[in-house]
Amino acid sequence: MHGHQTVLLFGPPGSGKGTAGRCLGTIPGFFHCACGDVFRKIDPSSELGRVFIEYSSKGELVPDDATVGMWHAHIRKMHAIGSYKPHVDLLILDGIPRNVHQAEMLEKELEVLRVMHLVCNDESEMIDRLRRRALKDNRLDDAKESVIRHRWEIYKEESAPVLAYYPPEIVSEIDALQSPAEVLRQILDVVVPIQNEHFQRLAAEEQPA
Ligand code: ADP
Repeated sequence: MHGHQTVLLFGPPGSGKGTAGRCLGTIPGFFHCACGDVFRKIDPSSELGRVFIEYSSKGELVPDDATVGMWHAHIRKMHAIGSYKPHVDLLILDGIPRNVHQAEMLEKELEVLRVMHLVCNDESEMIDRLRRRALKDNRLDDAKESVIRHRWEIYKEESAPVLAYYPPEIVSEIDALQSPAEVLRQILDVVVPIQNEHFQRLAAEEQPA
């Protein structure tokens, strides 16, 4: 097998990637990895923790080398403790790659089977969602409207071009303004057949020659 068998969850801040990804991650055979969650678990007094706070509090992306390095370390750790079984699980990636350079850095090790694009044409609804989340989850980067708006600009400038990096035939669009349950149902409609094919390939590999 070449690289991690991967489905990317892609969409602007507030589009619901995390909610859908966390649900998927509770189902055996899927491993959810949200880059922002990994950053938030880092000790804020460590070197990387300070870099994360410096950039995320302004709504900026953390530099690529630090981000990809941290991601590698996290995936290795999850593999070592048996939470992520690369040979069996589909990796559900959320929040990485977040610009074209990160996509290039990860090109060799990810086998991207599908990109789920959570499309959101109502910026004000997303901004309201982020404000509500800020109160609930104590998120520094969502607390100020100017930072939220900047994160949207960064998404449009730096992250949206990642969509064109992957072949259009593997990109599925989902309307992010639907209810969380409907978004999850539509993601499952696409991802379950991919998981079935993956399991069939595994079974074929295990057949004695
Ligand atoms: P959201 O999905 O609401 O945009 P995340 O939790 O994914 O938020 O990310 C929060 C912050 O963490 C980002 O604004 C950024 O500063 C940092 N971050 C997360 N993932 C990456 C990444 N792949 N590259 C650079 N910075 C990242």
